[in-house]
Amino acid sequence: MAEQMTAGCTQPTPSRRIVIAGGGYAGTTLAVRLGKRMRPEDDIEVVLVEPNPCQQALSELDLVAVGPPRPEFCELWHPTVFRDLPVTVCYNRLHDVDAQEHTVLIGPRDGERERVEYWRLVLATGAIAFVPPVPGLAEHAVTMWSVEDAQELQRRIEAAFKRAAKLYTREERSRVLSFTVIGGGATGIEIVGTLGQMLPRRARDAGLDPADLRVRLVEGRPEILYDLPKAQRAKAVARLERMGVELVLGEMVERVEEDEVILESGERVDANVLVFCGGAKADPDAIEWGLEAESSGRLVCDEYLRSPHHEEIYVIGDVAAFRDPKDNRILPMLAQFAIRQAEHTADNLLREARGEEVTPFVPHMHGEFVSVGPRWGVGWMWNLNISGIPAIIMKRLTYVLYWFIVGGVRLAWKRTREMLSMQR
Ligand SMILES: Cc1cc2nc3c(=O)[nH]c(=O)nc-3n(C[C@H](O)[C@H](O)[C@H](O)COP(=O)(O)OP(=O)(O)OC[C@H]3O[C@@H](n4cnc5c(N)ncnc54)[C@H](O)[C@@H]3O)c2cc1C
Repeated sequence: MAEQMTAGCTQPTPSRRIVIAGGGYAGTTLAVRLGKRMRPEDDIEVVLVEPNPCQQALSELDLVAVGPPRPEFCELWHPTVFRDLPVTVCYNRLHDVDAQEHTVLIGPRDGERERVEYWRLVLATGAIAFVPPVPGLAEHAVTMWSVEDAQELQRRIEAAFKRAAKLYTREERSRVLSFTVIGGGATGIEIVGTLGQMLPRRARDAGLDPADLRVRLVEGRPEILYDLPKAQRAKAVARLERMGVELVLGEMVERVEEDEVILESGERVDANVLVFCGGAKADPDAIEWGLEAESSGRLVCDEYLRSPHHEEIYVIGDVAAFRDPKDNRILPMLAQFAIRQAEHTADNLLREARGEEVTPFVPHMHGEFVSVGPRWGVGWMWNLNISGIPAIIMKRLTYVLYWFIVGGVRLAWKRTREMLSMQR
């Protein structure tokens, strides 16, 4: 049975304690796989350190950011996931690593901390939204990196609807009902696509005229979704335009004021509700832990996903700077890599416990899908371009696969039903 603790996190010292910091896609997958596959003779204790009692499944945020208002959908409860597994879940933070002594400091943000020994340490503390120092941006924009962000966007949509309902001219209402997303990468397109598709219905339900809505995307490059094949980008543009989303491309933002964005060209874009989806950076605390890091802040790791000079420390997921041996480029921050790295690390840890050789991690990207609105998508798989309903099915199937990995058939079935009911 899973132990769930809030203060003292560990059992009497076993021979092999694996401490995992971070219970996101990487940490949760790793803890579940170890919990399912380790044997009593491996003599392993697994301690997962994560401040939140739930995993925020970030790739599902587009489903809940605009409505119907159920942001808790993309929270996966750790007490349920680990109910029947031999994993100690410690709802605290990792504060420091002593790589020489093989100890970590664990505890709440403010309060008593405990020094805990490890046999192996896995750092999987993820990334946070990156907001560049554009004047006014941090004050006025909501980012899209957590359930709280999704709830904040919901709150701002409601507030805009309430204000618009009291106005008499279309011009005034359109200024208040102006929704602007900055960032034409996957996250920005998913959010603006969902706004473009869902807001007209929500406006009608609220007794407002959908013709008053203004939904815009601002992107500094001349194109959106630059990671996707050209043909897929063009399809995404056509889809957004059909929804009535106005695309402002090749324009950098100079500054942001209370309800408008001022571009470097001098053009002003109404933005009563502003969402910034312009990037992410590795967990900023990680560079304090004395391990080798790239200039971007991501922790360096070798072909086995281990920190250089510290074979007992693995680094996986968004916080890790793993270089693909094929082109020497650092892998992008994607859940699919976080999950694969976690599975590989679980297997390597079991190999180590059993006196076998560890094997290198070889990344493969089999496909990528982006939703453009809740019922349509673009992407590719095995060199095949896929768009429309098949693409959105592929994207949602990746969620189902993840739920199956961490929670088996029961969780996958329960959440699939919830997801289908939300998409109606
Ligand atoms: C809106 C959005 C949509 C996305 N869509 C997709 C998609 O469609 N496909 C895809 O592949 N990827 C997608 N991604 C990217 C994907 O979500 C990330 O790559 C993935 O979350 C990385 O997993 P991770 O476990 O490394 O980090 P996370 O999932 O971010 O988990 C990190 C965990 O570490 C915890 N933590 C942080 N600091 C500490 C500490 N000091 N001690 C203990 N715990 C700590 C945090 O609380 C968090 O739970 C999307 C991201 C966003 C924001």
